[in-house]
Amino acid sequence: QLNCGIVGLPNVGKSTLFSALTSAPAEVANYPFCTIEPNVGIVSVPDSRLAKITGFVNPKKVIPAVVEFVDIAGLVKGASKGEGLGNKFLGHIRQVGAIIHVVRCFDDPDVVHVEGRVDPLADIETIGIELAFADLETVQKRQGNLVKLLKSQDKAVRDKARAVEPLLQRLVEALENGTSARNIGLDPAQRLLVQDLHLITMKPQLYCCNVGEEDLESENDRVAKVKAFAESDGSGVVVICGKLESEIAALDSVAEKSEFLEAAGLEESGLDQLIRMGYDMLGLMTYFTAGPKEVRAWTFPAEAKAPQAAGVIHTDFERGFIRAEAYHCEDLFVHESEQKLREMGKLRVEGKEYTVKDGDVLHFRFNV
Ligand code: GDP
Repeated sequence: QLNCGIVGLPNVGKSTLFSALTSAPAEVANYPFCTIEPNVGIVSVPDSRLAKITGFVNPKKVIPAVVEFVDIAGLVKGASKGEGLGNKFLGHIRQVGAIIHVVRCFDDPDVVHVEGRVDPLADIETIGIELAFADLETVQKRQGNLVKLLKSQDKAVRDKARAVEPLLQRLVEALENGTSARNIGLDPAQRLLVQDLHLITMKPQLYCCNVGEEDLESENDRVAKVKAFAESDGSGVVVICGKLESEIAALDSVAEKSEFLEAAGLEESGLDQLIRMGYDMLGLMTYFTAGPKEVRAWTFPAEAKAPQAAGVIHTDFERGFIRAEAYHCEDLFVHESEQKLREMGKLRVEGKEYTVKDGDVLHFRFNV
């Protein structure tokens, strides 16, 4: 589940955002594990370190890390009761690893709001309730099954059911009030016990405020309200102007893009921020491989040990892992060549127990 689902009420700017995200599609041949469907976008992760490493190594080819975004249309009021494309929608959203909830903060008399007014907090509540109710149904179904398990002949099954029972009760009470499962203070062990429910409101989430161009430089009231709410709710916030992002995305060259951003008074496109925040929400990190043929960013799950990180390149690398030769990209930026790093004693040799760090440059040794 290494993807982010984009959700939101109709007409908030989801499609606009999704097409901006996917306007420069990553070369999918490099990423055989990605699913290719019309509503799935494989998006390069902006990472200034990649260009810097490339500057010192001069490879023939540069390949960025990618992250998958899924456009999940069809969330309307009543979705949890099967309104609209309700059930289909909920099925899709259960399968993503994190949620980007787009909320409309822009005024535009030409764009109809489904409720007839622009009120991001009310929209957040509407969607929050649908998602909580969908989870409620899941939990109640599990409670029904538990009755049998509590009477099982197998003690291990019985014990597990006993441990799960009070957690389900807590979840029901919270979800009935529209409270997200992620906010009821379950510890990691408890989360593990209810993990197989795949609750939607347990997934990490951020709000993406879609504002008018005029609101990019100074924060509007609606954004301030969303931020305050997000803080109480443990969610992130990113502010973008969907319309502007789609104009930037349509530009061909990097130079044109930076010119455009500068003219709009922005340091970085909101889209780039959103992509990186999505990547972080999924608990993903990046290491690099660097050689004359290719410099490449690889994605690995935080806390991965060296063999597991090697397995991202090829399963053979994991199976036959011997050791990794490693340095951190920041050391390269200071000393400017691998040769220099070697002389300075900055090249490390790491074994099976090494926990890979974000920004490591690795060279794997393995048996075939
Ligand atoms: P979706 O239903 O959530 O996928 O919304 P769309 O992306 O289709 O957008 C609905 C309408 O809002 C379209 O006419 C867009 O052009 C318009 N729209 C999207 N983002 C913005 C924005 O940032 N500003 C303004 N003024 N209009 C926008």
